[in-house]
Amino acid sequence: VKELKTKKRVFIGLTSLGLLFLSIIIYFIWYLTYGGLYNINHLLPLILAVIIGVFILFAGIGITGIVYSILCKRSFPFMQGSIRAAITLLMPAAIRIGKLMKIEKEVVESSFIEVNNQLVKAKRLLLPPKRLLLLLPHCLQYSDCPIKITTDVANCRNCGKCIIGDIKLLSQQRGFHLFVATGGTIARKVIKEIQPAAIIAVACERDLTSGIQDSYPLPVLGLPNERPEGPCVNTQVRFDKIVESVEFFTKKEEF
Ligand code: SF4
Repeated sequence: VKELKTKKRVFIGLTSLGLLFLSIIIYFIWYLTYGGLYNINHLLPLILAVIIGVFILFAGIGITGIVYSILCKRSFPFMQGSIRAAITLLMPAAIRIGKLMKIEKEVVESSFIEVNNQLVKAKRLLLPPKRLLLLLPHCLQYSDCPIKITTDVANCRNCGKCIIGDIKLLSQQRGFHLFVATGGTIARKVIKEIQPAAIIAVACERDLTSGIQDSYPLPVLGLPNERPEGPCVNTQVRFDKIVESVEFFTKKEEF
């Protein structure tokens, strides 16, 4: 239970509530249309009830799978479909219910990222560094730096004014792919070209939430950036978090 005593509970609680509300709404729609459906065909209400029941059961198994994987720190391949369905179907409901409960969207997204990271960690992957891609947002670069690093991060001169230089050196030493993306489209193109087995992504909560869902079933470990100067300018990420994430996917080496 200790594993759930963090912000992960926000997402799990809201998706569970989302499933409950959706079930109630769907039941009432079914109840109100029962007579009309029965007149069309006597079996129609029953068929619809079975379809709805399977949908609710599938999403319920997904939420159970999330909780169980986090508690056991293990991945259950047969639950992956229902986990994905639960996340995709219930995320919008979770955000809406969060809004009604005055929970900020960013808090829900942050909780989702935490849940996702635990699910990725539960897979316990061990990869050669060449199968790993680290995707960074352009806003990590010092805003007055004149060097273009989005075409090739090797252009960075390691001046020390931002973290890009240190991460570039780390990628050269460890051998993983590194790319600084200006947006989701270019990130998708790079993923298609490199075909990594896993991704570490640094971005804001909103971009990480959509990126993680878009990339499924590719495991994506999400690291939200810090924004001391506001969004999209001179953002930061802790270097030790990057090292820790790289080491999670690859063999631990001296650095
Ligand atoms: S570390 Fe690299 S990217 Fe950052 S400011 Fe210096 S040269 Fe530019």
